[in-house]
Amino acid sequence: MRLGLVIDLDTCVGCHACAVACKQWNTSGTTGPLTDYRPYGADPSGVWFNRIRHYEVGEYPNSKTINFPMSCMHCEDADCVTVCPTGASYKRKEDGVVLIDQTKCMGCNYCSWACPYGARELDRESGTMKKCTLCIDRIYDETLAEIDRQPACVITCPAHARFFGDFDDQNSEVSRLVRERDGMQLMPELGYNPTNRYLPPRINTPIPTEDVRRDSLAGKVKEWVNKAVAR
Ligand code: SF4
Ligand code: SF4
Repeated sequence: MRLGLVIDLDTCVGCHACAVACKQWNTSGTTGPLTDYRPYGADPSGVWFNRIRHYEVGEYPNSKTINFPMSCMHCEDADCVTVCPTGASYKRKEDGVVLIDQTKCMGCNYCSWACPYGARELDRESGTMKKCTLCIDRIYDETLAEIDRQPACVITCPAHARFFGDFDDQNSEVSRLVRERDGMQLMPELGYNPTNRYLPPRINTPIPTEDVRRDSLAGKVKEWVNKAVAR
């Protein structure tokens, strides 16, 4: 079994609901607390497992915003695990989830330097490293209804841009999405072989406008629609 996430960059609206749900679940669950520093003062910061980056692609007025959620990719060849001097970082054989044993971590930061995805965060309050656990305490909790045994970010996403499942199962939804939509690894050239995949934004086919006069109502409407779908 190889558990991970698929994130659809075409439908993610950058609302940060997944990041907040992640913070809430993990702060109150077995991993917590995810510390906040100066939460109500100037320059607040804190520990987050999932952060959403926003990028502007293309030149105005034909530019487009890409919202890019990032958390641990649960890499197959994870150097964050091999560099850990205490054995606190480990990858589970049974499902591929990368975890940190909080009782063994000494906060040396080696793993965060080894992670090219910026997925690890030092909790300065506990002095230990923290990262996405794929909600390990949710996905195996048999007291929850089966539909709820998914990471908090996946359940929360209002745009249904996030999917959770087993990449070793060719019939799973995540495998099907990767096949059908050319799901991509982030920075595969680094050789970490991340499990998580991103579905690229769809390229919309513009409506032909050559057959109408640009100053006609039909031409203006078609141009407007083309501009809207390109965003
Ligand atoms: S994303 Fe970073 S922290 Fe997660 S498994 Fe890969 S190298 Fe390790
Ligand atoms: S909750 Fe869904 S739509 Fe909102 S930022 Fe996260 S992935 Fe994107």
